[in-house]
Amino acid sequence: MNPYLLVLSSPSGGGKTTIARLLLQARDDCGYSVSATTRPMRPNERDGVDYHFLSRAEFERRRAAGQFAEWASYADHLYGTLRSEIDQIQASGRHVLLDIDIEGARQLRVAYPASVHVFILPPSAAVLAERLTGRKTETRGVLAQRLERAAHELGAVGEYDYSVVNEDLYTAVAQVAAILDAESRRVARQDDLPAAIDRLRRDVMAEVERLPPVRV
Ligand code: 5GP
Repeated sequence: MNPYLLVLSSPSGGGKTTIARLLLQARDDCGYSVSATTRPMRPNERDGVDYHFLSRAEFERRRAAGQFAEWASYADHLYGTLRSEIDQIQASGRHVLLDIDIEGARQLRVAYPASVHVFILPPSAAVLAERLTGRKTETRGVLAQRLERAAHELGAVGEYDYSVVNEDLYTAVAQVAAILDAESRRVARQDDLPAAIDRLRRDVMAEVERLPPVRV
């Protein structure tokens, strides 16, 4: 089976990072693509686990060197996926789970046409606003910027393959896992299928040979 990219996008506060984390705990066939960012680290975050925290100069140096599969600017900071992250996870035979914004998802669609894109929707505006304010790590200006951007980003849902409403977290995780499983069964993704079918056909014909002779 070909491992593929599973892209999760949502407006900030949509809950996709939590969904990604729970999915990774539940499945050993997925690896998380740790993004690079120039934004400051939040108190509960760890460098190399949540993000690769880079200076703007370092980010720009790597971008100029072509090391990013995609990148985007978000709330005055740069975010991007290092090609090395994708390569490393795929080399281990696992699917690559990415938690990225819409702009980045568009670029990955072009670079990796076989990727699967899932849009995570908040159940309501009130829940979205509450999730964003509950974080308490951003100033009012940043929160307003994120909410306005969220309103704009909701219009991109038509570019996605699937949408999942994050009302109940565990239901949402189960739905993303179901998408992962269904996509894995796609005939076009199963490299080993033609050889398996050849074997099966030969065996079926051997069964024909084994049938008792026809009595006349
Ligand atoms: P946050 O600062 O809240 O962690 O993330 C802000 C936004 O940046 C989120 O929508 C998140 O999905 C997005 N983001 C995180 N990593 C990447 C990345 O590697 N590329 C792009 N394009 N967006 C990212």
